[in-house]
Amino acid sequence: MKISDKIREKQAQGKPVFSFEFFPPKTDKGEAKLFKTIEELKPLNPDFISVTYGAGGSTRTKTIDWVDRIKNEIGIEAMAHFTCVGAGRKEIAQTLMELEKRGIENILALRGDPPKGETEFTPPSDGFAYANELVEFIKSEGRNFAIGVAGYPESHLDAPDLDADILNLKRKVQAGGEFVITQLFFDNTHYFDFVRKLNDSGDWDTPVIPGIMPLTAKNQVEKFAEMCGAYTPDDLKNSIENAASDEEAAEIGLEHAKNQCVELLKKGAPGIHFYTLNKSPATRDILAYVRNELGLTS
Ligand code: FAD
Repeated sequence: MKISDKIREKQAQGKPVFSFEFFPPKTDKGEAKLFKTIEELKPLNPDFISVTYGAGGSTRTKTIDWVDRIKNEIGIEAMAHFTCVGAGRKEIAQTLMELEKRGIENILALRGDPPKGETEFTPPSDGFAYANELVEFIKSEGRNFAIGVAGYPESHLDAPDLDADILNLKRKVQAGGEFVITQLFFDNTHYFDFVRKLNDSGDWDTPVIPGIMPLTAKNQVEKFAEMCGAYTPDDLKNSIENAASDEEAAEIGLEHAKNQCVELLKKGAPGIHFYTLNKSPATRDILAYVRNELGLTS
């Protein structure tokens, strides 16, 4: 099923969508572990699972294989992340054909990051410089995918400011993006301001699903600030950094994520996308709490 239809269906029922994100493991051991994680999370009835596309396009085949298995063997709707990195129009067209052949209906269309050591994104020859061009291309190929795109409540790191980044997000939606999944954030104010700005900008009725990941270690505050510009509120930052151990930090991070999710859904977010890091306990814990607090059945 197309994720855009699923979101609409859930919205009509007044229910949120819940989704989990995984990355394709590099080793056999990692693969076995991911299968176990998916089996553990399946009873939570996620609306869909998404599988990332490795930096530099390194996991193209694995991403497609995992999405195929999740959808066709495990029986959970799935979405393939797909970036502009390392592929020209011909390869992209071939990948789209492969996805369609395997019955995959959902793509998260992304630009991707520059390879390690490079600061600027250089488009491949005959490829694309921005995600909106990839979305346009997928549409122009006449293939019948539901396309999601990425959004940045705290602005993308390369963008001059949030307003400019919002204009670029709107380009992706105008090109055919049907739903937005956000970068992780720790302060809900950023999400609510972002959605308000989008609504105020006019001509906007696209669902924006917040992406949530609990902090699980003392050193992650700095790490996430550097990696994606995520601001950590002072009280949370202090509690995490002053925790006696990573275990204690993880408890604090989990508590914060639970409260974030409940507030987001109570104030109208269409669902939650969990960045799972291929682990099940935190997502299971948060989702059980959220469903209980909001009186939702799975
Ligand atoms: P774009 O929308 O192209 O934006 C990139 C920058 O260019 C922004 O600063 C934007 O403001 C600017 N811009 C956009 N369009 C234009 C334009 N037409 N003209 C001028 N400026 C423009 N990375 C991976 O490698 N694999 C993954 O699986 C993956 N999954 C992700 C999932 C989510 C939910 C999110 C939020 C991010 C994910 N990323 C992934 C990271 C993503 O690839 C990076 O953040 C990347 O730097 C930007 O991708 P984008 O699609 O948002 O790019």
